[in-house]
Amino acid sequence: MGFWLFSIYMVISVSFLFVLLCVNPHGTGPLSYLSRFFYVKLPAFFDRISLKILGPMGKSKISYYALYIFNRPNPFFQLTYLSLSLGGYYIFYAQAFPFIPNPLVPAIHMYLGSIMYLLALCTFFAACWKSPGKVTQNNYKKYLSLFPYDNILFKENSCTTCKLQKPARSKHCSVCEGCVPKMDHHCVWINQCVGYGNYKFFLAFLLSHSVICLYASMIGFMIFAYITLSERLFTTVFTDREGNRVSGSWIVVFQYLIQEHQKLFFAESLCLVVGILLGGFFLYHLLLVKNNTTSNERMKRLDLQIDDKKAHLLNQPNIYNRGFLKNLEEVIDAEPF
Ligand SMILES: [Zn+2]
Ligand SMILES: [Zn+2]
Repeated sequence: MGFWLFSIYMVISVSFLFVLLCVNPHGTGPLSYLSRFFYVKLPAFFDRISLKILGPMGKSKISYYALYIFNRPNPFFQLTYLSLSLGGYYIFYAQAFPFIPNPLVPAIHMYLGSIMYLLALCTFFAACWKSPGKVTQNNYKKYLSLFPYDNILFKENSCTTCKLQKPARSKHCSVCEGCVPKMDHHCVWINQCVGYGNYKFFLAFLLSHSVICLYASMIGFMIFAYITLSERLFTTVFTDREGNRVSGSWIVVFQYLIQEHQKLFFAESLCLVVGILLGGFFLYHLLLVKNNTTSNERMKRLDLQIDDKKAHLLNQPNIYNRGFLKNLEEVIDAEPF
């Protein structure tokens, strides 16, 4: 993989993940159109193609498995996360640790990196294990007393599925089969909803993974710098595929490093992309905490924004916002009933 190919790969993967994670597919504008393309048009296209190739029976089988993976509680994405995360750690263990210690990376980074990785893993298990809470016959009155109805996004009504009065800020999740208090979104990576009870663990998950990924990519970068200096790559003469002799320019050294250390380079660049994205996602959620709102409420506001008859309701202040510190306290103290 050459330098330009790598740059294109980085730009495309960051933009792609940004559109998938941060852009509202129901909004207006070119980015929303792109998001709609991935979430609505592309699946519809594959639907038509699979019907043509596999026939109705084959297609219904594929749809069944796809629906199962995305719309039923199952550990598919949790196992994917564990494979990627343990695989990434193993690549660093096998490919990067042999270069440590060196004059640029002291030995402590081996232990520090491993401890940080373990902590990040713990936040993943905590986010999976801790329940966001579920509104039931026994506890719905307690959840009703948590937040008042703002009569903008939440009005007094009942959930048609649970047949219970719906507490303000709750939302019914068809995957978890229940109304989730202060629902943010359903997260396939932790195989449950992010809501009232586990939001703090989700924030810890985002922060710790962003930090460990950026830290790992920085260590990887320092190891490549060490290899470059110790092997004197900038003064080395290389031979290209056609047999021509080329001196060690930035691009040539870069290509040489990629070729010689493919696994480490792949893991390092993936860590960089994921670290930046998760960091952005963490800041986005911190902003939600600052305003005491949720992703679900943000979507509801965006829907109101494009509704001419109801847009004026958005001029009223958010009654749940009590200032950053109190909002943060609310997140940290939240314990489901
Ligand atoms: Zn419900
Ligand atoms: Zn859910």
